[in-house]
Amino acid sequence: MYKTTRGLVLREVSYRDSSKILTVLTESDGKLTISARGARRKGSKIAAAAQLLAFSEFTLFGRGGRWYLNEGSSIELFEGLRNDLGRFTLGQYVAQLLETVSDEDNPNIDILRLGLNSLYTLSQGKKVDTLVKAAFELRLMCLAGYAPMLDSCVQCGQKEMPVPMLDAYGGGLICSECATESGRMGIELCLSSLAAMRFITKADNERYFSFTLKEEALKRLSAATEQYVEVQLERSFRILEFYKKIAGGIEQ
Ligand SMILES: [Zn+2]
Repeated sequence: MYKTTRGLVLREVSYRDSSKILTVLTESDGKLTISARGARRKGSKIAAAAQLLAFSEFTLFGRGGRWYLNEGSSIELFEGLRNDLGRFTLGQYVAQLLETVSDEDNPNIDILRLGLNSLYTLSQGKKVDTLVKAAFELRLMCLAGYAPMLDSCVQCGQKEMPVPMLDAYGGGLICSECATESGRMGIELCLSSLAAMRFITKADNERYFSFTLKEEALKRLSAATEQYVEVQLERSFRILEFYKKIAGGIEQ
């Protein structure tokens, strides 16, 4: 049985001398595991399409519940990521988050689009990397069903907060009184970083990167969205620690 689909390579694992097992986020089937035989062989016709963070069209052959890559042609390789270690690492973080929230046999075109748009924006390099990272994290949480409550304090409902905080465990904002009372310290935001969070969750279509923040506010936003992801997905990402080590030497 043959099938043609388009998808983003989220993960690659080498096996045998010249082959790879790919995890691909496809338009038609959600997350798929695909054997790419010979993809590491010199001159292989599927090598470009089967590389990590490539968005490609794949012709697959299915047998015994497994999928084998028959033909592949790359559509977008996000070249701007491939000559920049920091951005490539951030791209891998994007891929790992997409993998974590995606299921097999459950396609979600909005999640795939968000991933592609984020990689494309990082690759273009016209937006600050930290802004793309934070907006991707928060928007992904919304699409995956973990949208935070950002209108008022999740405990007392108060809307006016001089020092708003994000309580990742409580799933939304917490005011300083409730934080003190419950002993749960949230991540401190400010009016600009909170406004950015509200913008990202509500922005139409693919406008979620269309904002700017001063450096300090952007740091608060990024710290908050990062912790929110960790708490909601109940795991941390080692690639992010690696990215921070690299980025510490490059930017900001
Ligand atoms: Zn409160």
